[in-house]
Amino acid sequence: MNRERLKIVARGLVQGVGFRPFVYRLANELCLRGWVLNSAGGVFIEVEGPRSGLDTFLHRLEQDKPALAVIQSLEHSFLDPVGYNDFAIRHSEDEGPKTVLILPDIATCPDCLREINSPSDRRYRYPFTNCTHCGPRFSIIESLPYDRPNTSMKQFAMCPACEREYNDPLDRRFHAQPIACPECGPRLAYCTATGTLSAEREEALGAAIEAVRNGQILALKGLGGYQLIVDARNDDAVRRLRKRKQREEKPLALMYPSLESVNQACHVSQAEARLLQSPEAPIVLLERLDAAIAPSVAPGNPCLGVMLPYTPVHHLLLSKLGFPVVATSANLSDEPICTDNDEALERLAQIADGFLMHDRPIVRHVDDSIVRVLLGRELVLRRARGYAPLPITMKETLPPILATGAHLKNTVALSVGNEILSSQHIGDLETQAAYAAFVRTTADLPQLYAIEPQLVACDQHPDYLSTQFAQSLATPHIEIQHHHAHIAACMAENELEPPLLGVAWDGTGYGPDGTIWGGEFFSVKESCFERVAHLRTFQLPGGDAAVKEPQRCALGLLYEMLGDEAFAPDTPQPLKQMLSRGIQSPYTSSAGRLFDAVAALLDIRQQASFEGQAAMELEFAADPGIKESYPINVGEIVDWQPMIEAMRSDNAPIGVRAAKFHNTLAEAIVRVAGNVGETRVVLSGGCFQNKLLTERTVLRLREAGFRPYWHQRVPPNDGGIALGQVYAAAKMQQLNLGNVEHPRSSIER
Ligand code: ZN
Ligand code: ZN
Ligand code: FE
Repeated sequence: MNRERLKIVARGLVQGVGFRPFVYRLANELCLRGWVLNSAGGVFIEVEGPRSGLDTFLHRLEQDKPALAVIQSLEHSFLDPVGYNDFAIRHSEDEGPKTVLILPDIATCPDCLREINSPSDRRYRYPFTNCTHCGPRFSIIESLPYDRPNTSMKQFAMCPACEREYNDPLDRRFHAQPIACPECGPRLAYCTATGTLSAEREEALGAAIEAVRNGQILALKGLGGYQLIVDARNDDAVRRLRKRKQREEKPLALMYPSLESVNQACHVSQAEARLLQSPEAPIVLLERLDAAIAPSVAPGNPCLGVMLPYTPVHHLLLSKLGFPVVATSANLSDEPICTDNDEALERLAQIADGFLMHDRPIVRHVDDSIVRVLLGRELVLRRARGYAPLPITMKETLPPILATGAHLKNTVALSVGNEILSSQHIGDLETQAAYAAFVRTTADLPQLYAIEPQLVACDQHPDYLSTQFAQSLATPHIEIQHHHAHIAACMAENELEPPLLGVAWDGTGYGPDGTIWGGEFFSVKESCFERVAHLRTFQLPGGDAAVKEPQRCALGLLYEMLGDEAFAPDTPQPLKQMLSRGIQSPYTSSAGRLFDAVAALLDIRQQASFEGQAAMELEFAADPGIKESYPINVGEIVDWQPMIEAMRSDNAPIGVRAAKFHNTLAEAIVRVAGNVGETRVVLSGGCFQNKLLTERTVLRLREAGFRPYWHQRVPPNDGGIALGQVYAAAKMQQLNLGNVEHPRSSIER
């Protein structure tokens, strides 16, 4: 029962360096069973055993690896065991053409860092130092094969010294496509806010350092786009950044000079330290200690989003500054990250005080990725730099399907052979710039991999631009219900086959019955996907406007319970009319909106500046030590009324009531699981970014004898929808359920 399977794909210099025998010895030493396999896509490893053994294996795989081995990416998932009897070295069978592997951008390796810091090296303080083991990849590739003329490095002719390294099989830079040095490679330049060039090279770096020290806002051309950098200790400067960027309260990410400095500011577990220092170098959400950080960085938030320097420019900048900086995507509110120099000077003119730029073009935008550790495992919340476009590998070959994703946190996905490639994070399709980036990416992925999609999968929401785009294509399309896609994504990455219970909880998704879904339970069988229970619906006065006004959610909730008695003397007349006449007040079963309503009822937040803010604060307010819950009625409709009544008459402190609310929802999931009678329960949707809800639900399901599954490599939020669409569409095709002309018949109530 306590055995798990750890599936690992290691990529980098892991072939021909004694890596397989090392894995074999390590597995045997730890008494783990499974296999290791070399293939064109990397070294695949599966080991089974107790959880502690698997954690040790993962740790030592990196710590004790052969001296010559370099790991550029180590994607792993914890899965159900299959019952291996021994540990074997498997041999890759040659099965036809292999998918070309495009690596993500990789953080500066220790060898390159040493060169940058050694005065005698010819790359001393050179900001574009890279080698075969690190540096830009996905963000500079124009087409395959991955050779220098097919990258944005083509405009830089190699100097004789670089050319020697490039052609020497014994050199660390043998065939390193982005190879560069101060003689022949890209250069830094510093521009003032008005776009006037004021310094170059080392002096440009000096000007940028000076600007940040003086509290100015620096636009820095990074790996996959421009970032905005500001002194994180300077509250005035951070506030100015927020004002100019029109980003009121959403937390801002930080970059610290070193792991030691992060340790002083945040609680860092071994798993979190590994992630911070990994080649992927994502933003890791960490529990903050007494961090000396401006209050406006992450107002009211017990977590900080933290990363370490991942390019030479970042290393040079941060080591001179010696203090943490805010490092956030350079854009106006939710537009895509800026990549082009001229575009940056234009779009960021009102935001930045200075620009540290360079002349290596960025071929495609790649934001910083965001992860958190949940129940001891990595959970990817935004998949971009360091991860995209690495595939999720399936057992079977899929037909070529392109998926256009959702509306918020959009990504697109493409199946190639037995792999599903998920694009980098694109963003909310609310602006023209975001929509343009979306359209570009739908063409970019198939073109890069030379795949002609036979089918396009999209959401059912008729108003989503991503749906309308799919409908406009000549290729046939299939519509996948939003929450079906969430569950399919979680099934795909956990290698799960039906039957099981799917729990999809999020903010909003199109329901085929005319209500807005978001608190759904599905019985997933081989041939059907049936909604078997859902949260009781309530009206949202003003529809989408309620997303930023939790108090409207609360009013709708109370109106459902109490009718006209829900109205207070100061309730605005228009809201009363909307509700009582049912004008612009759609019904919703959304769990996200239930969180918003409860946050307002507990007076945690009445108005939100971004979606999910109230729900987040409700999570933060909850006292995790509280184990009690409120009553709730569980049938085909999960009725929250007894919970809301009990909560309103409860005099306990807010922290206790917030915790009891979370616990009640976890109990409700356990009871639905009991009614449905499937052992395996899949948790997906944006609500399962909530650590307390997810941990509590997983714990209670396990105690009650169920097997819970949640996300790891793929985001539980709408960033995972495209992958789920591909997988669901492929399954439907296989079973001939996919009626492409009348896709809505695929969901039956
Ligand atoms: Zn390197
Ligand atoms: Zn050179
Ligand atoms: Fe969703």
